Amino acid sequence: MTKGHCKLKNLKDQSKLLLRLIQQKGPITRNQIMDITKMKLTTLKRFMQPLLDEGFVIEADLAESTGGRPPVLYDVNPKTYYVIGIDISRTYTEVVITNLKMKIIDLYRFGPPFDPVNTVNQICSYIENKLHQLCIEKSMVIGVGVGTVGPLDRKKGIMLNPANFPSNMWVDVPIKDMLQQKLKLPTTVDNGANAAVLAEHLFGAGQNTDNISYFHCGMGIRTGTISSGNIIRAMNDYEDAFGHMVIDINGDLCHCQNRGCIETYCSIPSITKKFKESLKQSISGYVNKPYDEIDFLDICAAAEENDELAQAAITSAATIFGIGLANYINLVNPELVILSGPIVKHSALFYKIAVEMALKRKYVKNHGVSFSRGGHFKDNAIAVGAAVLLIEEILKNKNAKLLV
Ligand SMILES: [Zn+2]
Repeated sequence: MTKGHCKLKNLKDQSKLLLRLIQQKGPITRNQIMDITKMKLTTLKRFMQPLLDEGFVIEADLAESTGGRPPVLYDVNPKTYYVIGIDISRTYTEVVITNLKMKIIDLYRFGPPFDPVNTVNQICSYIENKLHQLCIEKSMVIGVGVGTVGPLDRKKGIMLNPANFPSNMWVDVPIKDMLQQKLKLPTTVDNGANAAVLAEHLFGAGQNTDNISYFHCGMGIRTGTISSGNIIRAMNDYEDAFGHMVIDINGDLCHCQNRGCIETYCSIPSITKKFKESLKQSISGYVNKPYDEIDFLDICAAAEENDELAQAAITSAATIFGIGLANYINLVNPELVILSGPIVKHSALFYKIAVEMALKRKYVKNHGVSFSRGGHFKDNAIAVGAAVLLIEEILKNKNAKLLV
């Protein structure tokens, strides 16, 4: 463990809870903290002191006074401790260095993860070089969070056999141990969708709600849900179950061997395949590129330019996704649904139709669910969320209650 990790871990539960509050609400005055926590002033001072002494919290700029001496504002010190978040997805790897405010200090993204050893080497070289360049000592780094594609053995930090990965070398990969051995930093691993939904819940678009569902639509559909403030977890930490919800018992064959899964209609490969099939049968449509070179981004761009075939392909995928989403909303009852990932990012039409369809088909019509395109963290949600997960593991103690 690093010095930063030990210091954070060794804080008393009450100090941890205060830090978590200041992390989310800071800058915040002492009176506001007392209002929220119902702590007495003496208790607050007692548990605040270690946070100030260890450099986790600083007294920030003075707040506006309502008369008399202006009150002190507390905030997380953005320059004493750092966290690393890693997103290993099917089409890219992203590494972020954040401060304790979960603000990105630096970001590195590189190509698809073909080989586990090379991917880990590339991640670690970037981290070592960048920390040196930014004059950040290893002891100031709390640890490393990884958000990746399930199924996982989350406790052991092993990627079991993620579907649709760019190579077949990603079977039983002990990603946690590999990173820990090289970086000598405490490391935690979870699903990317869980990481993303947690980041949005604590620091992003879902800060005011305890019930959020996050959908990452790309090569597959990855789902993370927070219900009553807790991540819904399942055995083996699958995150792609939504994509294998059957919506047509006689539908197309899915790679899971079932028929008619949502994913067979609305993933990047399925939209591209269906568009190309319709293009073959048509004399019109998208003609600016050789057939074999047409990719998903071309289809999204063509749809935005009113190409009828492209619009039909996107509309059909979004309609099916929206019906699945309506079913999911019926079961889980989220207050906020965040749709994200390359399909949502590159196709306004997909987002629009999916939301319309979900609202039209959901069971409880007056249930006030709202939607967000991309959330607050957009493309960086998984990497930032992985860093948040690492901190949460240390700060969150369900049994701790604030002393009054
Ligand atoms: Zn399936």
